[in-house]
This record gives sequence, C-alpha cells and structure tokens, in this order.
Amino acid sequence: MSTRRGFLKCLGGLGACLLPWNGWTNLFVISSQPAQASFSNLVPEKPPELSSIQETNSSYLQRTAMDDILALSQQEFEGRRAGSRGEEKAAIYLVDQLRGLGLDPLGDALENQQRNYSHAFTIYPVNEEFSNGRLTFRQGDPNSLRTPSANIIGGLMGTHTNESIILSAHYDHLGIFQGKLYPGANDNASGVGCILDVMRRLLREGLKPKRNLVLAFWSAEEMGFVGSHAFVQNPTIPLSGVQAVFNVDTVGNGPVGDFAFWANNNNPAVQAVQAAVSRNKANMVLAPNNGHNSDQLYFNSEHIPAITLMSRDWLNKNHTPEDITSFVEPQKIALASDILYEAVRELAF
Ligand SMILES: [Zn+2]
Repeated sequence: MSTRRGFLKCLGGLGACLLPWNGWTNLFVISSQPAQASFSNLVPEKPPELSSIQETNSSYLQRTAMDDILALSQQEFEGRRAGSRGEEKAAIYLVDQLRGLGLDPLGDALENQQRNYSHAFTIYPVNEEFSNGRLTFRQGDPNSLRTPSANIIGGLMGTHTNESIILSAHYDHLGIFQGKLYPGANDNASGVGCILDVMRRLLREGLKPKRNLVLAFWSAEEMGFVGSHAFVQNPTIPLSGVQAVFNVDTVGNGPVGDFAFWANNNNPAVQAVQAAVSRNKANMVLAPNNGHNSDQLYFNSEHIPAITLMSRDWLNKNHTPEDITSFVEPQKIALASDILYEAVRELAF
C-alpha cells in the first residue's frame, strides 16, 4: 500500500541514467553484452514455445504462497526497496519462479524477437518520513539522478485471442531505515504469493485459458505506483486487449473472511471478485481511500476494469518492522487465492 502523492509522473527513458551500483545495468544491456553471473537467470536463453504443463518443473508447481512470503521477507532481500540490491534479489527470485513454471516472458523486447521478463523504468530519489507511526516515502529532489527499477512480467498464452487478463501484485517494499528491516510480509509478499498460487493451481490442473493470463509484479508502488504507471505509459502487451486487472495488495491479515477493495466503479473486475467472495461466504467492502491507494489506480484512469483486493484490516502494522511472516495468516492467503482463482476462471476461460 502506498500513500498517493501524485509524484514521479514523468518517467522518461533510461539513456541519461547513471547507476549507483552495478546491478540493474546488466539487466538493461543484456542484448549487447553477456550478463554477469548473478543476472544470467533474468535472460531467456531461447524464446520459449507456447507454455504448457509439460514444460513446467514440478518443484515449482508444488510451491505455496507461504513459501513465497517466507522467501521475499527474508533478511537477505533487505525489505525490497525499489532501486536497491534487495529489490534486485526479489526480481531474480520472481523471474526464477516464472521461468520454472514455464511462463512466457512478457517484459521488454530484446533483439531477435526475444522478450525479457523485466520491464524497465526509473525512479526519482525519495525521502523517508513517518506519518501516524508508518514509514512512507516522499519525493526527493526531482533534479537528482534517477535509479533503475523494473516490473517483472510473464504469462500463459491464451488459445485463441489477443485479449488478456492481468493478475498483479507489487513486490517492492520499504527497505531498511534507521537500522530496522521492513520485511513487508503482508505488504506485499502476501499478494505476490497469492497470484503465484493462482497460476500454479491453473497449471497443475492443465487448464488452458482462452484469454492470455498475465502475471505482473510491479515495483516502486511504495514510491507512488511508479511501476504500474510506467507499464500503463509504456505497456509490453496491448492495453486495448486488457479485459481486467486483478491486483492484490496486503491481503494476509485480519479475520479470514474480511476483505476490502479499491476501484473507480463497479466494473467487470469488481463484479467477478465480488461474486467469488460471495460464493466463498466471505465479505468485501469498498475501502475509504484516506490518501491511500494501490496499483489499480492508473489502469482505472485508462478506463480498464481493475480492482485491488486487500484485507479489510490492512492498515494494522502496515509500514512497520512488525509486518513479518508470522503476522500473515495462511488460511486467509488460501481464501484470497481461491477467490482470485474463481474470478480468473470466470474471465479468462
Ligand atoms: Zn505499502
């Protein structure tokens, strides 16, 4: 979850960007020189064929949302702050999952018709501030150097359509500040685990969607929805074909059946999630924004049906060092995954 500040609106090219550390550099220039070892798994060795259950690695299929939440929340990922080494490690983890599941890369175009799993953009510097006990970011000096960041995107191609359903969650969080780790287990490793679970279930069942089913992991959400905004401005799949965006953010805490959502109106994505919520005997209310928002925002601005599903109690321990894995309730994650699975089945098949 992020506080909307309306900043970081002008995301330009990468050409003038100087890099504070070596990491993402390799990701951006991989088409012209060999990637270093730590980044080699971000680069597809060959264009994958149409994804199929036979191509998936069974160990990837058997993973659970809690496995993802534990992995992304570990100390080594340093709180996954956009533009940091921890974000890069999380990105590598996600690319590994997408590749292990046999999904097609749907990020930036490379040479020779190849695609990357990453969708690159840049971020302005930010300053930290505390608001009501929560750590948040404010825009820093807009004239300072930008830092590279990236969304991670892959998908299961549909059988006979150019239309797509996007299942998304932001994977960045707040990083380390004043010596304290902000693991972001609920915000938003929980959403990442949920959408991976939905895809794993569909793949285990061997189902082929009619519409393309796209998994998108946004970054820099905590800096003002920068990654999802960059995607809307510079999409790697045609936005005109996007029929619905199911975004998940901070979905793992509070009473199991209590959900909330953000959306601009009662669009088809909202209706599909609401129907699944009702079938599962849960409840979902429209949440007050109060200055908060999530990655459905810029899709809604483009009149694309989009919803963010979250826990009704999402603000509890949000943006504090106490947002740790034991705070996430596995039963709630499982129910959220069931709801999203049903919504996706309704619109993608
Ligand atoms: Zn947040």
